[in-house]
Amino acid sequence: MKIIVAGGDGFCGWPTALYLSKQGHDVAILDNLVRRKIDNELHSNSVTPIATLEERVNKWKELTGKEIKTFVGDLNHHDFLTQVFTQFKPDAFVHFAEQRSAPYSMIDREHAVYTQTNNVMGNLNVLYAIKELAPDCHLIKLGTMGEYGTPNIEIEEGYIEIEHKGRKDTLPYPKQPGSFYHLSKVHDSHNIQFACKIWGIRATDLNQGIVYGLHTEETKQDPVLNNRLDYDGVYGTALNRFINQAAIEHDLTVYGSGKQTRAFLNIEDTVRCVEIAAENPAEPGEFRVFNQFTEWFSVKELADKVQKVAKEEGIDVSIDNMENPRVEAEDHYYSAVNTKLRDLGLEPHLLTDEVIKDMLQTVIEHKDRVIKDNVLPSVTWK
Ligand code: NAD
Repeated sequence: MKIIVAGGDGFCGWPTALYLSKQGHDVAILDNLVRRKIDNELHSNSVTPIATLEERVNKWKELTGKEIKTFVGDLNHHDFLTQVFTQFKPDAFVHFAEQRSAPYSMIDREHAVYTQTNNVMGNLNVLYAIKELAPDCHLIKLGTMGEYGTPNIEIEEGYIEIEHKGRKDTLPYPKQPGSFYHLSKVHDSHNIQFACKIWGIRATDLNQGIVYGLHTEETKQDPVLNNRLDYDGVYGTALNRFINQAAIEHDLTVYGSGKQTRAFLNIEDTVRCVEIAAENPAEPGEFRVFNQFTEWFSVKELADKVQKVAKEEGIDVSIDNMENPRVEAEDHYYSAVNTKLRDLGLEPHLLTDEVIKDMLQTVIEHKDRVIKDNVLPSVTWK
């Protein structure tokens, strides 16, 4: 299959591009490299040293003989996107290429506007490119479990059957996102659903949980293939942040009570879920939604796990419940369905002590790169 991985220079996209290439697909990466520029804006970095995109794909070719083409440009430049579609003629378009940090979207008006413009307009351009240039191309779009928020009922996979005043219908599951970033994903979902309906496009919305982990079998093959690992208060995801804090012997900073519960998955499952979606495409006109996560934990449970593993490695860290910079429910019900990817063959890599230990060891190896000022949250929702 010819697959474009948009956002293929990022945390999820890079290992996905390698994995799909290893599986024998003809892969091209599209990325405008903005994430590397945002590192400069935030005076932050990846804990792991990361090579340039060009060095990365050259090393992959040297090691495996497989070529990954690169298209460096922005989804918001429709002329560029038109060229990419015309040259590459994708069968599937995996869309990771968005601004994905909730805190970044909440910095100020400018960052909220950037996030929604970049994400919503970029995705709309992709929909038009598919319609006009590759109508059979399967859009595999990364959404987030955060689109649903934390309702007091079970979260279904995309749709819910409702009975109202004696009549029944199956409707999109209600969305209660918690940041301007999460709202951009909800807007994307609506645009995709509408495009499927009116143009007959095929699309899968992967409502992904929070991704943890770092290495995959492919990225481990050479340091030049390293994946990025964010640890700062803006881009670091919960577990990755705690592991980095432990590595530099910083308290593990839990926001508020830490009872906030979220869905998670290992980066090794992200790459496999995308493969499953690609190999089992949605039907023309179908807007299919998969909940892409394997387990859920409260933030406090994650901190406890990291504290325990760190202790076994000789590192004593405390857990510090700090004032919550976000506006979110701390005490809430959480239960979500995730059977569709499992039914199609996903075998989860669960969060074991071994996984945490492996990450901790990698971070310790690079801990001189950690900028200590960045480990605390710097953005508040109010
Ligand atoms: P990332 O920031 O590491 O990677 C995103 C990549 O997209 C970057 O390389 C960036 O340069 C590129 N990009 C952004 N806007 C672009 C544009 N307009 N044109 C071209 N390239 C652009 O993010 P990630 O963690 O790899 O997340 C990838 C996707 O998965 C995002 O859409 C995110 O919302 C979703 N997701 C991530 C997580 C997670 O825990 N990381 C959880 C749920 C969903």
